[in-house]
Parts: sequence; structure tokens; C-alpha cells
Amino acid sequence: MSDTKRVFAFGNDSNGQNITEGNAQMRYVLGGKGANLAEMSNLGLPVPPGFTITCQTCMEYANEGNVWPEGALAEIERYRLNLESRMGKKIGDEKDPLLVSVRSGAPMSMPGMMDTVLNLGLNDKSIYGLIEQTNNPRFAWDSYRRFIQMFSNVVMGLDGDLYEKAISVKKDALGVESDTDLDARDLEDLVCEFKTIFSDNVSPVDYPSLVKDGKVTFPQDPTVQLRLAIEAVFGSWNNPRAVLYRQKNKIANDLGTAVNVQSMVFGNKGNTSATGVAFTRNPANGDKVFYGDFLVNAQGEDVVAGIRNTTPIADLKDVPGLKEAAHELEDIFSVLENHFHDMCDIEFTIEQGKLWMLQTRAGKRTAAAALKIAIDMVEEGLIDKETAISRIAPDQLDQLLHPQFDKNSTYEVVASGLNASPGAAVGKVKFSSGEVVSAVEKGEKCILVRWETTPDDLAGMYAAEGILTSHGGKTSHAAVIARGMGTPCVCGCESLRIDADAKTIEIQGLDLVIHEDDIISLDGSEGIVVKGEVSLVEPEITGDLDTILEWADNIRKLGVRANADNPKDAKCARDFGAEGIGLCRTEHMFLGERKKIIQSFILNEDEKSRSAAAESLYLAQVEDFYEMLKVMDGLPMIIRLLDPPLHEFLDNPRTLEVEIARLEERDAEAKVISNKRELLSKIDSFNEQNPMMGLRGCRLGIVYPVLTELQVRAIATATAKLKKEGFNPKPEIMVPLICTVNELAYAKEDALRVISEVSKAEAVDLNMEIGTMIELPRAALTADEIATQADFFSFGTNDLTQTTFGFSRDDVEGEFIPLYLEKHLLSRNPFATVDGNGVGKLVGMATELGKQTNPNLLCGVCGEHGGDPESIHTFANCGVDYVSCSPYRVPVARLAAAQAALD
Ligand code: PEP
Ligand code: MG
Repeated sequence: MSDTKRVFAFGNDSNGQNITEGNAQMRYVLGGKGANLAEMSNLGLPVPPGFTITCQTCMEYANEGNVWPEGALAEIERYRLNLESRMGKKIGDEKDPLLVSVRSGAPMSMPGMMDTVLNLGLNDKSIYGLIEQTNNPRFAWDSYRRFIQMFSNVVMGLDGDLYEKAISVKKDALGVESDTDLDARDLEDLVCEFKTIFSDNVSPVDYPSLVKDGKVTFPQDPTVQLRLAIEAVFGSWNNPRAVLYRQKNKIANDLGTAVNVQSMVFGNKGNTSATGVAFTRNPANGDKVFYGDFLVNAQGEDVVAGIRNTTPIADLKDVPGLKEAAHELEDIFSVLENHFHDMCDIEFTIEQGKLWMLQTRAGKRTAAAALKIAIDMVEEGLIDKETAISRIAPDQLDQLLHPQFDKNSTYEVVASGLNASPGAAVGKVKFSSGEVVSAVEKGEKCILVRWETTPDDLAGMYAAEGILTSHGGKTSHAAVIARGMGTPCVCGCESLRIDADAKTIEIQGLDLVIHEDDIISLDGSEGIVVKGEVSLVEPEITGDLDTILEWADNIRKLGVRANADNPKDAKCARDFGAEGIGLCRTEHMFLGERKKIIQSFILNEDEKSRSAAAESLYLAQVEDFYEMLKVMDGLPMIIRLLDPPLHEFLDNPRTLEVEIARLEERDAEAKVISNKRELLSKIDSFNEQNPMMGLRGCRLGIVYPVLTELQVRAIATATAKLKKEGFNPKPEIMVPLICTVNELAYAKEDALRVISEVSKAEAVDLNMEIGTMIELPRAALTADEIATQADFFSFGTNDLTQTTFGFSRDDVEGEFIPLYLEKHLLSRNPFATVDGNGVGKLVGMATELGKQTNPNLLCGVCGEHGGDPESIHTFANCGVDYVSCSPYRVPVARLAAAQAALD
């Protein structure tokens, strides 16, 4: 037998003594739920007793191909017997049965992604014990039918609709509307029908041990029920929605889920019983008020499923018989906040007036709430500024940077619901997750419209611009998930009559029907819906965000710059707190009309036309650099010399071929056709097998020195002009894609010569730093040599990833990276999060080598990874001086950089 401890008890023994074996620090062993159940028990809070099976057991079971580790089942059995003795009841007992819940609980919160089985332990005999104990046959039969339904769906994988249909048929036959209209006899009949559905649909081949008299029977042995339920919860760690959720939330696949087996308490034992979910502060705006919903005479799932409309938690004390429990709950809210020093999310049940705590965890919150709560808690003395900073998920800040409805535009609100997740969205109406996903793949923007969402809608929720539901409260699935993803969401919009089959939404009280593909607009901060498109405005950073970012700036060591190539983006970056431009991609200045000029430069062989084109480009660039340097006055601005392969500026040869074929078909003038043919052959001459490894980067300036010359001359001229006007421009020239120090030395010599010429001609002192991108492995490997010629390095981690992995950056993300992720060949998309072990190692090594030979060398990162919080942590460890990212990521990067410093 192995020594590994796999099961941990929580709660009291039969004498009321706490015998809990775990605590809040053990989340990687007991999962978040198990660790916090243990912690609440240790705090003396009323927790129904139970035990937790470790996450490691789940992984061992999965890794061995769903085979139990030696001794694990025996240990579970011992804890089950211990639980029975603590409770003075036995699972499956005919007289006084103990019922248990079997719930998942991973180290990281994955709300609603994995499975749960409730009421376990009921069978054809113990049902009578439950009736006897509760004197409530209706409750007992309802519990049994819920158990069979849940067990069939979760454990055996049967379609839940089979059971829902049977309930509907029963209600229709009785002429009643609601489940609560079914009496004990009706529910007993349903139990019988459910067992038949079970027998008819579970394959005897899959479950030979459940076969009796040639038929599969619903398992009666509680030990078998428990084992199958635990196996199902383990299995749910790898269900598709859990895998997708982990991928989106960067949760490791090898953590596993714990399983909590806990004595059941019932919120559906009459009118002095209730169940609810609550937050210790408002998770939408951070206000310090208790927040949540409850339902009298209901089970927990009823609250989250949004089947019945819930009552606000503030009204709990007004329900007869629940006043005492409501006050106790409020006291517990304070105990929890003071203990965890965080806003807590809890699930509770009141069973015949007695309060029980079923769960607590750090509550999910909107970005606005996260900022407010962090600042308030610092002011209340609950946490320090460092903790406040470490609490806020940098990616969440995006929510605050989302567009809002333009208040100056006029629009007519056609429906209102709950303001479940902030931000505004515009898109085409779609009624299913699948339709959203396929439309988004075609480049459309969609709003997912559902009666209520379920975890199966996750893919569509991720893809949608916004989510609209007609049902459910602020703690419903749609609301919780949308807030976590930062997707605008309006839920509980009850005036909507959504018919997903007919693909229509009728709006009650209005003579209006919205059809599939109609455009609607949502404002998730206001909870309103508009038919048609509302113009959106960009948000401003103020108040709480400013405070937090100021704190972050005092903590962080990494600088934050922005990648921008036009004055508008540069201004936006500066407003968001960028300390300079880390990358201005000058090729982005050659779009539109400018494209014609550069085409003329590339394709004209006669020197005169080529010089004219070069002159036009030069003049345009002077203007570009002048405007941008003016916006960035006083701050450094790295301008990169032209980088892409020239064919990127040329027309597509295939289009030209088609054009020629058409001209020929129409017998167009021979001259016109021959001109086109000549053009085609010139364009073809720029064709390369591997253009990303061909004539691009610094190689362009070596083959066409006039390109370097015109760009440097434009930079120097614009700088001289601004200096003369009294500004303080700080351009820095960056040479892209070098692989040898000689290339840099060559380009540098050219640049210095031009700068000196302009300086003399304009009679202005022009000292400009000249540096290079490090984006090829050879450059990283010889960084010590290169640094002798460079004032700065900027790591182009997009190309460095491409060239280190040998993955074509334009192709593989769509082609096989998803498959690699699915097969765990990669844990992250390396173009989104830098590969620490490979690319990160090169960045760290090159930084160290470079600083050895040039102690003044400034090192930054300007690949897309510069705005990714996880990559920012990696770069901080690499010793770089700053990161540079798109303007909207600047606040995110400022916060992530502070968190990296705290780590
Ligand atoms: C890079 O390669 O990381 C980079 C910033 O340059 P670009 O993406 O323009 O190639
Ligand atoms: Mg590059």
C-alpha cells in the first residue's frame, strides 16, 4: 500500500469537535473548494461534514487510463465509514439514510465547467427512510428523481432531454405548468419512468456489473454509486468545455480536480429552507454591500440555472423563519472578509432555519469592481498596496478599456435587463453557440442570444461580441462567465420572447420582431438592448484605474512603451501612460496612395523615375516623422527602417494574371496586354520561395541603399525642423533583422553619414541613437559582438519565435497550433505567450551578452508578447529594461510589470 495520503476530512465529528485535516493553503492538493471548506471548518463556521479526495489522485487515475491507484478506494471507504459515524447515519440506510453530494473542485476556479452529483445514496429502500425521517414524501421522491436524472446525465452520459421530456409529458398529462405542481405520487411515477429510461439507454456492454436479469438496472449499492460518481467527476476534468476553459484561462492541464464528498443539506425542505449564492461586496461595481440572490424551498442548482427568478439577498431577513439565519449569514460575510482579506463568493443553504456554508472562494468580479475593492480594502487597512496590485488580473483591465455607447448618438432602447457585464457591443443576432462560432470564423461580429446560457455555449460566448439572455440573475451562468471573459452581457431581459427554432425574438409590449442576422447593440454596463447599430466611443482612463496604475508605476521596474505608427495611436499610447514608442513600423506608412509611390520605386528601372519616387517617399516620410515626433515630444521614439519583403508592396500577381486573361479574351489592345505582361514579369521577379527569410530587413537597405538613405534623411530632417521649433524630439533609428554585426555596422555607417549631412545642412546638432532588432537566433547568439555597434536592442519576439521554432508566423497559427495545443505538444501558442524555455532563454542570454560588451545598452521587447502579462513576467526575469505593446495594452502591461516586480 502506498504512503500517499489521498483523502482529507473536513467538518466536525459527532461531538461537535472540528476534525478537519486540511486548510486554505492546500488548494493544489484539495482544490479551491476543498481547501476553503477545510478553512471554513477551521474557522468554526457551519460546514456540512465531508471529505476531499485529492487532485493528485484524479491525475494518477487519468494518467493510468482511468485505473484507480492502489489503496485509493480502500482509503475512500475508510473516510466514508468515518463520515457515517460522524453523522450517525449510513449512506443507503433504510431507516435514516445519509445523502451526500459529490462535487468537483480544481485548484483554480472553473465555475460550472466540471460535474456534480447531488442526493447520492438514494435507492429503492433508502427512499423510504428519507420519507420517514422528513415526513415529506414529496420532497423525498423529488430528491430521488433529481438524483437519477443527474446521475444518468453526469455519470452515465445520457441525454438530459430524455428526462426533461418525461417530466413535460407528465405535466401535460396532468394539465399542470410547473414542476412544483407535481405531487409525491407523480414524482414516484417519474422515478419509475426514469429508471426505465436508464435501463433502456445504458449499454450493458459498458456496465456489465449493473446488469441484472439481462437488463441494466439503476445502481442500488451506495458504494457503487459513490465510486461511479467520483470517477465521473474525475473524468469531467477532461471534458471539452473544461479543456477549452483551461486553454482560455491559461490553467495547466496537469492540476486535476479534487472531489468533495459532503453530507447533503436541503434548501428544499419547505418554506423555512432556502438556498442562495452571494458575494460579500457587489461584484459588478465593487460597492461594499452584500450582494446575491436566494430562493426559498429550492436546491442550489435552481439558483444558478435561472429556472426560477431569484430574490435579492437583502430580502432574506424578511422571510418568516429565516431572519436568524440571515443575520448569521451577514456575520459570516464579515468573518470571511476579515479572514481572507478579499471579497468572497459563497454558496449557502438554510435547512429548516439552520444555516450551512457550502462553499466560499475569492469572488469573480468585473475589472471596475476589482479596482474599487482593491483600493477600498487598502483604505480599510485590510490589505497593502502590493497585495492590491497583485489581486488585479491585468487582462481584465481590457474591460475598462472597452468601448461604450456614444451618449451623443440617439437610439431607442427596445428592452432592458440586468447589467451583467460591462462594455458595449454591436453584432448580428445568432441563436446558438455553433452559429456564432461559424459566423465569427467568416469575419462577422455576432451577439449570442439565448434564453439562458449553459456551459455548452462556452465556445460561442468566447466568440461573440456580446451576450443577451432573457432569463437568469446576476449570478446566472451567462452573467458570471461573461464578466470573467470581459464580454458585454445583458441578462434576465424578460420582455424578450426568444424562439431559437424560429430564429426570432419578439419583444413584449412592442410590435417588434428581431430576426436572425438583424443587427442589435447591447450596453452591458446599463443593461440595455437597442435594435440596429449604435455608434460606440472609446473609454477614458480615470479614477480608480489611474490610482492603481500609479501604484503599479511605483512598484514596477520594467519600462512600458508602445508600438505605434501614426500620430493618433501615438497620442493614445501617451495618454495610456506609454513612456515612449518602442516600435514604429515604417512600412505601415506606405499604405493607400503611398503604395503607388513605393511600387513605382520598386518597379521602375530607369533612374529618373526611381529617384522621383524616392523623393516623393522622402517628403511623405518627413511629414510622418514630424507629426509623430511632435506627439511624442520629449519621449524616445524608435523608428524602424523598412523591414518587409518588397513583394508585400506589389500587386498580387494572380490578380494580374486573371486581368490579362480577361483582356485577352476581350481582344484588348495589344499594347495594353504587353504592358501588363511586362508588369507581371517584373512582379514575378520579386517572387521568393521563403520571403520571410529572403530580401527583407536590413538586407533591403544593403541591396537598395537609397531606402536607408531616404528614411534616415527624413528622420533627421523632421528632427531638425522640430528642434528649430523648440521641441525636444528623441528619435532612435532601428535596423531590423540583422544576423551579423557587420550588417549593423554597415547600416550604421550609412545612417551616421546621412545624419551628419543633415545636421550640417540644417545647422542643428543631431545626436541619434542607433540600435537593432534581435529577431534571429544568430543575432541572439552573437549579441556580445552586435552590442559593440548598438545603442539599444529591441527583441522582435514575433520573428524570433518564427525563426527559433521554424514555424511560419503567417501560417501555423491557423494550421496546426490548435492541434498541438489539443495534443499537449505545446502548452501555449508561442506567438501569444513567449516560449520561456526557448525564445525566452535567447532573450535572456542576448541581454546578458549585450550588456557585457556594452553596459549602456538598453534592451526592450517589441514583439506582440510585450503586451501579454505572462510573457511580461518572463521578460522581467530575462533582465530586459522595457516592453513595448499596442497602445490599448499599455495599462495592462504597466500592471503586469508591477506584478512581475512583486513576484
Ligand atoms: C517582431 O518580429 O517581433 C517584430 C516586432 O517585428 P514584425 O512583427 O514587424 O516583424
Ligand atoms: Mg520582425
